[in-house]
Amino acid sequence: MNYEQILKEIYQESKSLPTFGNVSTSIPELAKIDGNKFGIHLTTINHQDFGIGDSGEKFSIQSVSKALTVALAFSFLDEKVWERVGVEPSGSAFNSLVQLEYEKGIPRNPFINAGALVIADMLVSNLENPKEDFLKFIRKISGCQAINYNLKVAKSEKETGFRNAALANFLKSFGNINNNVETVLDFYFHQCSLEMTCKELAHSFFFFANEGKSISGEQILTKSQVKRLNALMQTCGFYDESGEFTYKVGLPGKSGIGGGIAALFPKNFVVATWSPRLNEKGNSELGMNALELLTTKTGMSIF
Ligand code: GLU
Repeated sequence: MNYEQILKEIYQESKSLPTFGNVSTSIPELAKIDGNKFGIHLTTINHQDFGIGDSGEKFSIQSVSKALTVALAFSFLDEKVWERVGVEPSGSAFNSLVQLEYEKGIPRNPFINAGALVIADMLVSNLENPKEDFLKFIRKISGCQAINYNLKVAKSEKETGFRNAALANFLKSFGNINNNVETVLDFYFHQCSLEMTCKELAHSFFFFANEGKSISGEQILTKSQVKRLNALMQTCGFYDESGEFTYKVGLPGKSGIGGGIAALFPKNFVVATWSPRLNEKGNSELGMNALELLTTKTGMSIF
């Protein structure tokens, strides 16, 4: 497969499309990002790297981090994770409060904000220095020491994160947050502020495509655990548009409001895209389109 040529074609075809969507304004610091940025990086299971456009520029991975926090929690709590968070698509907005009311404080899945906050609470309970240890985990799985939190983004989100504060307090009222709400929110805002290039993001997600083994050869999760998380990404990874993403692209993945998407074809490749203009569901318009072109041109999708 000539990935270099395929990425070139995808890049050129995508760039010639009319611009659509807007950069997220929900976090003031993110509203400053240039909407015209666009990068793609693909890493094959044999460690070959192919990048194009702004694939070497760092961006805020936001909710893409939720796949990595749940992976870390799953690595030490295993099936116990699902006692406090479900595995069903939500069909509601990522930051919705309503389902929590009638589901007694058990979030539908770990990728909506409520679920990610419960996962953050698990990490705060189980890690000695939660923010530092999570960063170490990310650096380990990606093989990249240059990954950091963006403290300006974390602060900006903290100052405006009223809905997340509401969610965390609501969860606490059901007894599904064990730690101090402020501590859990602080962890969550930091995980969302992680900055990576498309290449670093693809490398971080490598173990999802490689039966649990990271790019540097370390077993992060078991084969079966990775199967489960890939299934969750497939059914819940794209907000209220997971069905649409599955229909068009046919790969498990996770998106974020920073405009990043990480997706993978098990035992074949990992791909990360970044384009900050989002559609009305909060997914990167160009990123989704590029991934649709990728699976169409290569014929490589899990379906
Ligand atoms: N930090 C953002 C929030 O909690 C993440 C949203 C996202 O990327 O979906 O609102």
